[in-house]
Amino acid sequence: MPLDPRLLEILCCPACHGDLLEKPEGLHCQGCGLLYPIEDGIPVMLVDAAKKVDLAPQADPQKQPPVARKVSP
Ligand SMILES: [Zn+2]
Repeated sequence: MPLDPRLLEILCCPACHGDLLEKPEGLHCQGCGLLYPIEDGIPVMLVDAAKKVDLAPQADPQKQPPVARKVSP
């Protein structure tokens, strides 16, 4: 289930208050590079739950794996 864009607008990184970008893996902070997991459609905005990933702020689409289409029940 995609996140509500309005939710993304009001959410920001709790570590650096940077903008978040929705990824298949979770919400990726454009500021500090932390990736926040999404559990049951709810983003877990905890620094302790986030993991550091090395994604460029402007990710090269050619390096991104194809997004698997999730089938909703
Ligand atoms: Zn951040």
